[in-house]
Amino acid sequence: MKELRMVDLKGQYDRIKSEIDNAIQSVLDSSAFIKGPEVEKFEEELASYLGVKHLISCANGTDALQLALMALDLEPGDEVITSDFTFIATAEVIALLGLKPVFVDPETDTFNISASEIEKAITPKTKVIMPVHLFGQSADMEEILKIARKHKLYIIEDAAQATGAEYLFPDGTGKKAGTIGDIGCTSFFPSKNLSCYGDGGAVFTDNDDHAKKIRSIANHGSTKKYYHDNIGINSRLDAIQAAVLRVKLKYLDEYNITRRKAASFYDRQLSVTDKLIPPYRSHKSTHIFHQYTIMLNPEIRDLMKEYLATKNIPSMVYYPVPMHKQKAYNHLGIKDSDCPLTTSLCTSVLSLPMHTELVIEQLQYITDNICTFLEDK
Ligand SMILES: *Cc1c(COP(=O)(O)O)cnc(C)c1O
Repeated sequence: MKELRMVDLKGQYDRIKSEIDNAIQSVLDSSAFIKGPEVEKFEEELASYLGVKHLISCANGTDALQLALMALDLEPGDEVITSDFTFIATAEVIALLGLKPVFVDPETDTFNISASEIEKAITPKTKVIMPVHLFGQSADMEEILKIARKHKLYIIEDAAQATGAEYLFPDGTGKKAGTIGDIGCTSFFPSKNLSCYGDGGAVFTDNDDHAKKIRSIANHGSTKKYYHDNIGINSRLDAIQAAVLRVKLKYLDEYNITRRKAASFYDRQLSVTDKLIPPYRSHKSTHIFHQYTIMLNPEIRDLMKEYLATKNIPSMVYYPVPMHKQKAYNHLGIKDSDCPLTTSLCTSVLSLPMHTELVIEQLQYITDNICTFLEDK
Protein backbone atom coordinates (compact mmCIF):
# COMPACT_ATOMS: atom_id res chain seq x y z
CA MET A 1 0.00 0.00 0.00
CA LYS A 2 1.19 3.52 -0.80
CA GLU A 3 2.53 5.47 2.21
CA LEU A 4 -0.22 7.37 4.04
CA ARG A 5 0.08 11.14 4.33
CA MET A 6 -2.21 13.86 5.64
CA VAL A 7 -1.94 15.41 2.15
CA ASP A 8 -0.46 13.71 -0.93
CA LEU A 9 0.82 16.54 -3.12
CA LYS A 10 3.23 14.31 -5.01
CA GLY A 11 0.52 11.88 -6.09
CA GLN A 12 -1.64 14.77 -7.28
CA TYR A 13 1.26 16.36 -9.18
CA ASP A 14 2.12 13.08 -10.91
CA ARG A 15 -1.36 12.94 -12.46
CA ILE A 16 -1.16 16.45 -13.95
CA LYS A 17 2.61 16.62 -14.38
CA SER A 18 2.75 17.43 -18.08
CA GLU A 19 0.18 20.23 -17.80
CA ILE A 20 1.93 21.76 -14.80
CA ASP A 21 5.40 21.43 -16.32
CA ASN A 22 4.23 23.09 -19.53
CA ALA A 23 2.54 25.90 -17.63
CA ILE A 24 5.68 26.61 -15.59
CA GLN A 25 7.90 26.34 -18.67
CA SER A 26 5.82 28.92 -20.49
CA VAL A 27 6.31 31.41 -17.66
CA LEU A 28 10.06 30.75 -17.74
CA ASP A 29 10.06 31.35 -21.49
CA SER A 30 8.08 34.58 -21.13
CA SER A 31 10.23 36.03 -18.29
CA ALA A 32 7.08 37.75 -16.98
CA PHE A 33 7.53 36.64 -13.38
CA ILE A 34 5.66 39.39 -11.56
CA LYS A 35 2.17 40.45 -12.69
CA GLY A 36 1.69 39.89 -16.43
CA PRO A 37 -0.80 37.77 -18.36
CA GLU A 38 -0.75 34.57 -16.22
CA VAL A 39 -1.69 36.48 -13.08
CA GLU A 40 -4.36 38.52 -14.90
CA LYS A 41 -5.90 35.44 -16.50
CA PHE A 42 -5.90 33.54 -13.23
CA GLU A 43 -7.64 36.44 -11.47
CA GLU A 44 -10.32 36.52 -14.19
CA GLU A 45 -10.81 32.75 -14.14
CA LEU A 46 -11.11 32.47 -10.37
CA ALA A 47 -13.42 35.51 -10.20
CA SER A 48 -15.67 33.87 -12.76
CA TYR A 49 -15.58 30.50 -10.93
CA LEU A 50 -16.52 32.19 -7.66
CA GLY A 51 -19.06 34.51 -9.27
CA VAL A 52 -17.50 37.74 -7.99
CA LYS A 53 -16.87 41.03 -9.75
CA HIS A 54 -13.33 41.70 -8.54
CA LEU A 55 -10.52 39.41 -7.47
CA ILE A 56 -7.10 40.62 -6.38
CA SER A 57 -4.37 38.02 -5.98
CA CYS A 58 -1.75 38.49 -3.27
CA ALA A 59 1.17 36.77 -1.58
CA ASN A 60 -0.69 34.50 0.86
CA GLY A 61 -3.94 34.03 2.75
CA THR A 62 -2.76 35.97 5.79
CA ASP A 63 -2.03 39.01 3.60
CA ALA A 64 -5.46 38.59 2.00
CA LEU A 65 -7.09 38.98 5.43
CA GLN A 66 -4.86 41.93 6.27
CA LEU A 67 -5.62 43.66 2.95
CA ALA A 68 -9.36 43.19 3.49
CA LEU A 69 -9.18 44.81 6.94
CA MET A 70 -6.97 47.64 5.66
CA ALA A 71 -9.53 48.48 2.98
CA LEU A 72 -12.19 49.35 5.56
CA ASP A 73 -11.45 52.65 7.27
CA LEU A 74 -11.12 51.20 10.77
CA GLU A 75 -9.75 52.99 13.83
CA PRO A 76 -7.33 51.56 16.39
CA GLY A 77 -9.31 49.81 19.11
CA ASP A 78 -12.22 48.93 16.83
CA GLU A 79 -13.43 45.42 17.54
CA VAL A 80 -13.46 42.50 15.13
CA ILE A 81 -15.42 39.43 16.12
CA THR A 82 -14.01 36.10 14.98
CA SER A 83 -13.97 32.46 15.98
CA ASP A 84 -11.94 31.21 18.93
CA PHE A 85 -11.54 27.96 16.99
CA THR A 86 -9.44 28.85 13.92
CA PHE A 87 -5.94 29.11 12.52
CA ILE A 88 -3.92 31.92 14.08
CA ALA A 89 -3.78 34.07 10.91
CA THR A 90 -7.35 35.23 11.39
CA ALA A 91 -6.63 36.64 14.85
CA GLU A 92 -3.15 37.84 14.04
CA VAL A 93 -4.01 40.33 11.30
CA ILE A 94 -6.65 41.93 13.52
CA ALA A 95 -4.15 42.47 16.33
CA LEU A 96 -1.35 43.56 13.96
CA LEU A 97 -3.49 46.43 12.68
CA GLY A 98 -4.13 47.71 16.21
CA LEU A 99 -7.70 46.41 16.18
CA LYS A 100 -9.11 44.28 18.97
CA PRO A 101 -9.86 40.62 18.28
CA VAL A 102 -12.98 39.41 20.07
CA PHE A 103 -13.16 35.62 20.14
CA VAL A 104 -16.43 33.73 20.32
CA ASP A 105 -17.36 30.06 20.42
CA PRO A 106 -18.31 28.04 17.35
CA GLU A 107 -21.42 25.92 16.87
CA THR A 108 -21.11 22.45 18.42
CA ASP A 109 -21.83 20.52 15.24
CA THR A 110 -20.22 22.42 12.32
CA PHE A 111 -17.31 23.95 14.32
CA ASN A 112 -18.13 27.21 12.49
CA ILE A 113 -18.62 30.51 14.32
CA SER A 114 -21.97 30.69 16.08
CA ALA A 115 -24.28 33.51 14.99
CA SER A 116 -25.88 33.75 18.42
CA GLU A 117 -22.46 34.03 20.08
CA ILE A 118 -21.54 36.81 17.61
CA GLU A 119 -24.62 38.77 18.57
CA LYS A 120 -23.83 38.47 22.29
CA ALA A 121 -20.32 39.87 21.72
CA ILE A 122 -21.35 43.04 19.87
CA THR A 123 -20.43 46.35 21.56
CA PRO A 124 -20.52 49.97 20.29
CA LYS A 125 -16.91 49.43 19.13
CA THR A 126 -17.66 46.38 16.97
CA LYS A 127 -17.04 47.09 13.28
CA VAL A 128 -16.38 43.77 11.57
CA ILE A 129 -17.47 40.14 11.78
CA MET A 130 -14.88 37.70 10.45
CA PRO A 131 -16.39 34.25 10.01
CA VAL A 132 -14.02 31.42 9.12
CA HIS A 133 -15.40 28.65 6.90
CA LEU A 134 -13.63 25.93 8.80
CA PHE A 135 -12.64 22.50 7.46
CA GLY A 136 -14.47 23.01 4.14
CA GLN A 137 -17.96 24.02 5.10
CA SER A 138 -19.48 27.51 5.01
CA ALA A 139 -20.53 29.24 8.22
CA ASP A 140 -24.21 30.14 8.60
CA MET A 141 -24.03 33.24 6.41
CA GLU A 142 -27.77 33.98 6.31
CA GLU A 143 -27.82 34.45 10.10
CA ILE A 144 -24.53 36.34 10.09
CA LEU A 145 -25.81 38.67 7.33
CA LYS A 146 -28.92 39.45 9.39
CA ILE A 147 -26.77 40.42 12.37
CA ALA A 148 -24.39 42.49 10.23
CA ARG A 149 -27.27 44.40 8.64
CA LYS A 150 -28.98 45.00 11.97
CA HIS A 151 -25.83 46.37 13.62
CA LYS A 152 -24.28 47.92 10.45
CA LEU A 153 -21.14 45.78 10.54
CA TYR A 154 -18.82 44.66 7.76
CA ILE A 155 -18.30 40.97 7.05
CA ILE A 156 -14.90 39.68 5.96
CA GLU A 157 -15.02 35.96 5.20
CA ASP A 158 -11.97 33.76 5.76
CA ALA A 159 -12.54 31.12 3.09
CA ALA A 160 -8.98 29.75 3.14
CA GLN A 161 -10.30 26.23 3.85
CA ALA A 162 -13.41 26.41 1.70
CA THR A 163 -12.56 27.41 -1.88
CA GLY A 164 -15.34 25.86 -3.92
CA ALA A 165 -17.78 25.15 -1.08
CA GLU A 166 -21.25 26.53 -1.65
CA TYR A 167 -23.47 28.18 0.94
CA LEU A 168 -27.12 27.25 0.46
CA PHE A 169 -29.67 29.95 1.30
CA PRO A 170 -33.06 28.97 2.74
CA ASP A 171 -34.72 29.74 -0.64
CA GLY A 172 -32.59 27.04 -2.27
CA THR A 173 -30.18 29.34 -4.11
CA GLY A 174 -26.46 28.97 -3.54
CA LYS A 175 -23.38 31.19 -3.46
CA LYS A 176 -19.74 30.25 -3.17
CA ALA A 177 -18.23 30.49 0.32
CA GLY A 178 -16.43 33.80 0.69
CA THR A 179 -18.65 35.71 -1.75
CA ILE A 180 -21.54 36.57 0.56
CA GLY A 181 -20.12 39.19 2.93
CA ASP A 182 -18.39 42.44 1.94
CA ILE A 183 -14.98 40.93 1.24
CA GLY A 184 -13.78 37.32 0.94
CA CYS A 185 -10.28 35.97 1.39
CA THR A 186 -8.56 32.73 0.53
CA SER A 187 -5.18 31.02 0.59
CA PHE A 188 -3.43 28.83 -1.97
CA PHE A 189 -1.02 27.27 0.54
CA PRO A 190 -0.04 23.82 -0.82
CA SER A 191 -2.40 21.87 1.46
CA LYS A 192 -5.53 23.93 0.69
CA ASN A 193 -8.25 22.67 -1.66
CA LEU A 194 -7.11 25.06 -4.42
CA SER A 195 -3.37 25.25 -3.94
CA CYS A 196 -0.15 26.23 -5.62
CA TYR A 197 3.47 25.10 -5.17
CA GLY A 198 4.46 27.86 -2.78
CA ASP A 199 2.56 30.74 -1.23
CA GLY A 200 -0.42 32.56 -2.66
CA GLY A 201 -3.71 34.15 -1.73
CA ALA A 202 -6.60 36.24 -3.01
CA VAL A 203 -9.11 38.85 -1.88
CA PHE A 204 -12.47 39.18 -3.66
CA THR A 205 -15.46 41.46 -3.54
CA ASP A 206 -18.36 42.82 -5.58
CA ASN A 207 -17.73 46.32 -4.24
CA ASP A 208 -15.87 48.57 -6.72
CA ASP A 209 -14.43 50.90 -4.07
CA HIS A 210 -13.15 48.10 -1.84
CA ALA A 211 -11.59 46.41 -4.87
CA LYS A 212 -9.82 49.56 -6.00
CA LYS A 213 -8.46 50.21 -2.53
CA ILE A 214 -7.33 46.60 -2.00
CA ARG A 215 -5.50 46.55 -5.33
CA SER A 216 -3.76 49.79 -4.44
CA ILE A 217 -2.83 48.74 -0.89
CA ALA A 218 -1.39 45.43 -2.14
CA ASN A 219 0.78 47.49 -4.50
CA HIS A 220 2.46 49.86 -2.01
CA GLY A 221 -0.68 52.02 -1.88
CA SER A 222 -0.19 53.02 -5.48
CA THR A 223 -2.30 53.07 -8.63
CA LYS A 224 0.18 55.17 -10.62
CA LYS A 225 3.85 54.21 -10.44
CA TYR A 226 5.78 56.22 -7.79
CA TYR A 227 2.60 57.99 -6.54
CA HIS A 228 1.25 56.59 -3.28
CA ASP A 229 -2.24 57.47 -2.09
CA ASN A 230 -2.48 54.90 0.70
CA ILE A 231 0.02 53.39 3.11
CA GLY A 232 0.31 50.00 1.51
CA ILE A 233 2.18 46.74 1.62
CA ASN A 234 3.91 44.65 -1.02
CA SER A 235 1.85 41.54 -1.59
CA ARG A 236 1.64 39.79 -4.93
CA LEU A 237 1.13 36.36 -6.41
CA ASP A 238 3.96 35.43 -8.73
CA ALA A 239 3.34 34.28 -12.29
CA ILE A 240 4.67 30.74 -11.78
CA GLN A 241 2.14 30.16 -8.98
CA ALA A 242 -0.60 31.74 -11.10
CA ALA A 243 0.23 29.34 -13.94
CA VAL A 244 0.03 26.36 -11.54
CA LEU A 245 -3.26 27.65 -10.14
CA ARG A 246 -4.78 28.03 -13.63
CA VAL A 247 -4.15 24.33 -14.24
CA LYS A 248 -5.45 23.27 -10.83
CA LEU A 249 -8.55 25.49 -10.94
CA LYS A 250 -9.84 23.35 -13.83
CA TYR A 251 -9.73 20.32 -11.52
CA LEU A 252 -11.04 22.00 -8.36
CA ASP A 253 -14.61 20.69 -8.55
CA GLU A 254 -13.36 17.20 -9.38
CA TYR A 255 -10.89 17.36 -6.47
CA ASN A 256 -13.62 18.46 -4.08
CA ILE A 257 -15.89 15.62 -5.22
CA THR A 258 -13.05 13.15 -4.68
CA ARG A 259 -12.57 14.45 -1.14
CA ARG A 260 -16.31 14.14 -0.53
CA LYS A 261 -16.24 10.53 -1.71
CA ALA A 262 -13.36 9.71 0.63
CA ALA A 263 -15.34 11.37 3.45
CA SER A 264 -18.41 9.25 2.66
CA PHE A 265 -16.28 6.12 2.80
CA TYR A 266 -14.92 7.18 6.21
CA ASP A 267 -18.50 7.92 7.36
CA ARG A 268 -19.75 4.49 6.29
CA GLN A 269 -16.88 2.51 7.78
CA LEU A 270 -16.87 4.46 11.03
CA SER A 271 -20.64 4.26 11.51
CA VAL A 272 -20.17 0.84 13.15
CA THR A 273 -18.73 2.44 16.28
CA ASP A 274 -20.45 4.89 18.62
CA LYS A 275 -17.15 5.85 20.24
CA LEU A 276 -16.50 8.72 17.88
CA ILE A 277 -18.54 11.50 16.30
CA PRO A 278 -18.01 11.83 12.54
CA PRO A 279 -18.00 15.26 10.85
CA TYR A 280 -21.43 16.91 10.72
CA ARG A 281 -22.74 17.81 7.28
CA SER A 282 -24.72 21.01 7.41
CA HIS A 283 -27.78 21.32 5.16
CA LYS A 284 -26.76 24.98 4.71
CA SER A 285 -23.50 24.28 2.87
CA THR A 286 -21.80 21.77 0.66
CA HIS A 287 -18.79 20.24 2.40
CA ILE A 288 -15.51 20.09 0.50
CA PHE A 289 -13.64 18.38 3.33
CA HIS A 290 -10.52 20.45 3.65
CA GLN A 291 -10.27 18.30 6.77
CA TYR A 292 -12.09 15.17 7.89
CA THR A 293 -12.34 15.85 11.61
CA ILE A 294 -13.82 13.44 14.12
CA MET A 295 -14.52 13.97 17.82
CA LEU A 296 -13.41 11.53 20.50
CA ASN A 297 -13.54 11.26 24.25
CA PRO A 298 -10.61 13.48 25.36
CA GLU A 299 -9.30 10.57 27.46
CA ILE A 300 -8.61 8.47 24.38
CA ARG A 301 -7.95 11.10 21.70
CA ASP A 302 -4.19 11.27 22.15
CA LEU A 303 -3.96 7.51 22.74
CA MET A 304 -5.65 6.89 19.42
CA LYS A 305 -3.36 9.36 17.67
CA GLU A 306 -0.34 7.48 19.07
CA TYR A 307 -1.84 4.10 18.18
CA LEU A 308 -2.48 5.20 14.58
CA ALA A 309 1.09 6.50 14.35
CA THR A 310 2.40 3.00 15.21
CA LYS A 311 0.42 1.77 12.18
CA ASN A 312 1.95 4.51 9.99
CA ILE A 313 -1.33 6.41 9.89
CA PRO A 314 -0.78 10.14 10.35
CA SER A 315 -3.41 12.26 12.09
CA MET A 316 -3.42 15.85 13.31
CA VAL A 317 -5.09 17.96 15.95
CA TYR A 318 -6.56 21.08 14.30
CA TYR A 319 -6.44 22.99 16.60
CA PRO A 320 -4.84 22.10 19.95
CA VAL A 321 -5.12 25.58 21.53
CA PRO A 322 -8.02 28.07 21.37
CA MET A 323 -7.08 31.57 20.17
CA HIS A 324 -7.84 33.08 23.55
CA LYS A 325 -5.38 30.73 25.29
CA GLN A 326 -2.46 31.63 23.00
CA LYS A 327 0.22 33.50 24.95
CA ALA A 328 0.31 36.38 22.48
CA TYR A 329 -3.37 37.08 23.20
CA ASN A 330 -3.30 36.67 26.99
CA HIS A 331 -3.53 40.44 27.42
CA LEU A 332 -7.10 40.34 26.09
CA GLY A 333 -8.05 38.70 29.37
CA ILE A 334 -10.53 36.22 27.88
CA LYS A 335 -11.39 33.42 30.29
CA ASP A 336 -12.01 29.76 29.41
CA SER A 337 -15.54 30.26 30.65
CA ASP A 338 -16.06 32.90 27.91
CA CYS A 339 -15.36 30.29 25.21
CA PRO A 340 -16.10 26.96 26.92
CA LEU A 341 -16.88 25.07 23.74
CA THR A 342 -13.59 25.83 21.97
CA THR A 343 -11.70 24.88 25.09
CA SER A 344 -13.35 21.46 25.08
CA LEU A 345 -13.20 20.98 21.28
CA CYS A 346 -9.44 21.39 21.36
CA THR A 347 -9.21 18.31 23.58
CA SER A 348 -11.49 16.09 21.48
CA VAL A 349 -10.93 16.77 17.75
CA LEU A 350 -8.72 14.67 15.49
CA SER A 351 -8.27 15.11 11.73
CA LEU A 352 -7.60 12.05 9.57
CA PRO A 353 -5.72 11.93 6.25
CA MET A 354 -7.76 13.78 3.62
CA HIS A 355 -6.68 14.57 0.08
CA THR A 356 -7.41 13.88 -3.57
CA GLU A 357 -5.30 10.72 -3.89
CA LEU A 358 -6.76 8.48 -1.17
CA VAL A 359 -7.77 5.04 -2.47
CA ILE A 360 -10.17 2.49 -0.96
CA GLU A 361 -7.33 0.26 0.24
CA GLN A 362 -5.87 3.11 2.28
CA LEU A 363 -9.23 4.26 3.63
CA GLN A 364 -10.09 0.68 4.58
CA TYR A 365 -6.76 0.29 6.38
CA ILE A 366 -7.25 3.55 8.30
CA THR A 367 -10.82 2.80 9.36
CA ASP A 368 -10.05 -0.85 10.25
CA ASN A 369 -7.31 0.34 12.58
CA ILE A 370 -9.54 2.98 14.15
CA CYS A 371 -12.24 0.37 14.80
CA THR A 372 -9.71 -2.08 16.25
CA PHE A 373 -8.39 0.59 18.59
CA LEU A 374 -11.87 1.61 19.72
CA GLU A 375 -13.13 -1.98 20.29
CA ASP A 376 -12.18 -2.21 23.97
CA LYS A 377 -12.46 1.50 24.80
C1 LIG B 1 -4.31 28.65 5.76
C2 LIG B 1 -5.18 29.60 6.47
C3 LIG B 1 -4.93 30.98 6.50
C4 LIG B 1 -3.64 31.60 6.03
O1 LIG B 1 -3.18 31.29 4.82
P1 LIG B 1 -1.62 31.45 4.45
O2 LIG B 1 -1.66 31.40 2.95
O3 LIG B 1 -0.89 30.33 5.07
O4 LIG B 1 -1.17 32.79 4.93
C5 LIG B 1 -5.85 31.81 7.10
N1 LIG B 1 -6.95 31.33 7.67
C6 LIG B 1 -7.24 30.02 7.68
C7 LIG B 1 -8.50 29.55 8.33
C8 LIG B 1 -6.35 29.11 7.10
O5 LIG B 1 -6.64 27.79 7.14
